[in-house]
Amino acid sequence: MARGEVDVANLYVHAPFCARRCCYCDFAVEVDRSPPTARWLAAIGRELDTIRASGQAALASAYDTVYVGGGTPSLLRPDAMRGLRATIGDSRMGGADLEWTAEANPESLSAETASEWAAAGVNRISLGVQGFDPDALAWMGRLHSREDACAAVEQARAAGISNLSVDLMFGLPDGVRHRWSDEVRRVLELDVPHISLYGLTAEAGTPLGKWVKTGRARMPTGSRYREEYLFAAEAFVAASYDHYEVSNFARPGFESRHNLACWRGAPYLGLGNGAHSYHGGRRWWNVSDWAAYAAQVEERGRAVAGEEVPIATQRRLERLWLGLRTAEGLATEGLGPAAEATLERWAAAGWAERSAYRVRLTAQGWLILDELVLELA
Ligand code: SF4
Repeated sequence: MARGEVDVANLYVHAPFCARRCCYCDFAVEVDRSPPTARWLAAIGRELDTIRASGQAALASAYDTVYVGGGTPSLLRPDAMRGLRATIGDSRMGGADLEWTAEANPESLSAETASEWAAAGVNRISLGVQGFDPDALAWMGRLHSREDACAAVEQARAAGISNLSVDLMFGLPDGVRHRWSDEVRRVLELDVPHISLYGLTAEAGTPLGKWVKTGRARMPTGSRYREEYLFAAEAFVAASYDHYEVSNFARPGFESRHNLACWRGAPYLGLGNGAHSYHGGRRWWNVSDWAAYAAQVEERGRAVAGEEVPIATQRRLERLWLGLRTAEGLATEGLGPAAEATLERWAAAGWAERSAYRVRLTAQGWLILDELVLELA
């Protein structure tokens, strides 16, 4: 462990199972409608025990944040989060201030699952809604309806979990019938304290990537992409959400603490297939295929696919990217004299706002975040 490195207090656990693969998805996902919950828990537990025994990462005595992502964690058995708590250790999951998020899809967040999760200690749910229009949902390959999304929100609240986040997707291809202003209005009607707004991308290797390559789908023009993002951002801010990160909006006090910790460069441990970890100035990641991960963990306790120690130029690029993506902005100290003219130009273009020692991007600037990071690199 590097000198001065703090203990890992942020844990990510990957639950890779989905009932069907959405047309745009390139995550580490295993299509399985009845996932093997016991085998998943055993693999996560074995991997964690092996890491503890190796001393590779010093784990905090109690976690600040735990994030169970997917995949679709709500597809696991309803008692899976109770099992996870027992696997990780009651004391590590028992901090008074623990933020424990689990992702769910509306069609599989039953009342039983919601109340089991609450009893286990889950206190934040991120719902993969993505949209409400039946044509758009069918095009994406989603299995829920608009009514399912509303019911899932109600079920979570009835179980006592009101710290909810909803994902919404913009930039769907030309010809997918839906009205963007209606989608934005509907997500606001749910009145949840956190919204994530993601622009669709056509990744190679996904069905959508192939459709775009063969001309079966056409991604939106830059101007529609831009209009939809800015329209939603403006509507959310008008409804008292803070635009605290390029893709995330929260009512005050409801920002994702787990994500904020990662964006601020805190160490985190990732368990499960495809999970990434960062600790002691080193990054490592697991094999992405679930079956290969489970087999390797069962055989030797770990399933690491690769690791790296970022070199100085990578660290600088990362510092710029992490700083500019959040509303906290980037400390300008040490950027060098050449950066001053660049930052002035950004401010004049409406892409950034300056304060004495920091620069933060505006929504207009976040639209071209990657380009701006490279300008400053
Ligand atoms: S539900 Fe999420 S993780 Fe599963 S296939 Fe769809 S986009 Fe991928």
